[in-house]
Amino acid sequence: MAAESTFGLVIGGVESNGTNGATEELLDPSTNRPFARVAVGAVDDARYAMQVAQAAFDAGEWAGGDGAKRAKALLRLAHLLDEQQEAFAALETRNMGKTLRESRVDVGFVVRTLEYVAGLADKVEGATIPVPGARFNYTVREPLGVTVHIAPWNYPLLLAMRSVAPALAAGNTVVLKPASLTPLTAVRFARLAGEAGLPNGVLNVVPGPGGRLGEALVRDPRCRSVSFTGSSEVGHRIAALAAERLIPATLELGGKSPVVVLPDADVERAARGIALGIFGNAGQMCWAGSRLIVHETLRSALLEKLRAIAEAMRLGPGTEDGVEMGPLVSREQEQRVLDYVRAARDDGGQVVTGGAKATGPSLADGNFVRPTVVADVPATSKAVREEIFGPVLSVFAYREPDEAVRLANETPFGLFAALWTRDLASAHHLARRLEAGMVVVNEPPLTFPQTPFGGFKESGLGNEQGLGVVASYTRTKNVLVNVAVPKRKP
Ligand code: NAD
Repeated sequence: MAAESTFGLVIGGVESNGTNGATEELLDPSTNRPFARVAVGAVDDARYAMQVAQAAFDAGEWAGGDGAKRAKALLRLAHLLDEQQEAFAALETRNMGKTLRESRVDVGFVVRTLEYVAGLADKVEGATIPVPGARFNYTVREPLGVTVHIAPWNYPLLLAMRSVAPALAAGNTVVLKPASLTPLTAVRFARLAGEAGLPNGVLNVVPGPGGRLGEALVRDPRCRSVSFTGSSEVGHRIAALAAERLIPATLELGGKSPVVVLPDADVERAARGIALGIFGNAGQMCWAGSRLIVHETLRSALLEKLRAIAEAMRLGPGTEDGVEMGPLVSREQEQRVLDYVRAARDDGGQVVTGGAKATGPSLADGNFVRPTVVADVPATSKAVREEIFGPVLSVFAYREPDEAVRLANETPFGLFAALWTRDLASAHHLARRLEAGMVVVNEPPLTFPQTPFGGFKESGLGNEQGLGVVASYTRTKNVLVNVAVPKRKP
């Protein structure tokens, strides 16, 4: 079952079509033509995957073993992935649509994540705690057991591995459900895990529908934690399921992130960074800087530069050299984005550039939307309040810093914010006032495996990445030992 265009469920190191044999076709987003077929997991497959992962955990080879051994296996995996970077990047681009350059960056990030968590695998330490009397007290950090990971389609391998890699490093066994639209690199990665020598059953990948399969995984009594990356709407559902089962949930959810441009900003540099932050990945980024809040003195200069950048961008299939923006992931997503643009227009917004489906010889059949900038959209418009998840930037002008902060925080989300200024004192001051889990100054959205990633408010709960990430997939046990020496009778 490992032909180049067929992908199965990988459970216990075996790739198959699952219990009911169902499969579905996947479409290339740049042409909407089928190019691969993938197995569709059923609820019975979820149960089986959890059973196999639990058996692998109980066997103790992975969980009970030495962290240094896990580190070596994860480093082997990083090395193999690095060697196969081109093949993984090509598959990601074909499946999701992003440009090859973007896919290469994603795969590189996964390699680096594996290396980073491998370095932490033998450093999950407990503490000794002074207590009264002849007693010895200490803590041990233990893996949780079987952890479930549910991933979205916009960075398919990167976001799956962002939580899977540390969970593995901590000694857990894993069941991963990739997004139905983009499961292929996760399946290919599971094949690689076998080659790297991870014991069978330690990493299981079950593609299939979120509502049935995803919920079955979280509801399973063997699921000891869930890491979910996806929409805020489904995040609420996952939180409710996790609460019923009293298991920890890490939720990485949606965003509607502000980009604040102060009057002293370098307009040229800001324009390039802002464009990257909203048109990169065709705008399908949780932390896309989708609301530009610019000081009124720079508004027209910045809009002019953004228009020029947007109109010069080359759109096309992600596999073509020189393409700067690929298609949206699906026809449905294209329609959703165009509907939001229509709402912005209907509510009085002025389209500065874009705002329509892109046309051209290599674009006709794909899901291409022109990079779009809309000004003067009222704050009540759904195009401003809701996440669009496409290449659409709304622009607002402000006069006083307090007004910029109010506009920036006036959203149910709190994932990310960007500031553009030469005045570092103002930058630090404003960074504190912004309700966002991540703030960057004079940068497009940028993150590293060693820096915590997470959102406030409707954007999530908890963090991935960073120094504490491996320990976050463990539980703390406290041990108290009475070490009093019994008095001998005289
Ligand atoms: P989605 O919520 O529709 O789906 C995410 C995953 O959850 C998919 O695998 C899906 O099959 C599964 N799912 C759906 N319903 C489920 C249910 N009831 N139970 C269990 N699993 C279920 O999101 P999407 O459309 O794939 O991704 C886009 C969203 O993800 C956007 O809102 C984006 O902002 C967000 N996102 C957040 C981050 C972050 O780190 N904060 C990163 C990327 C994407």
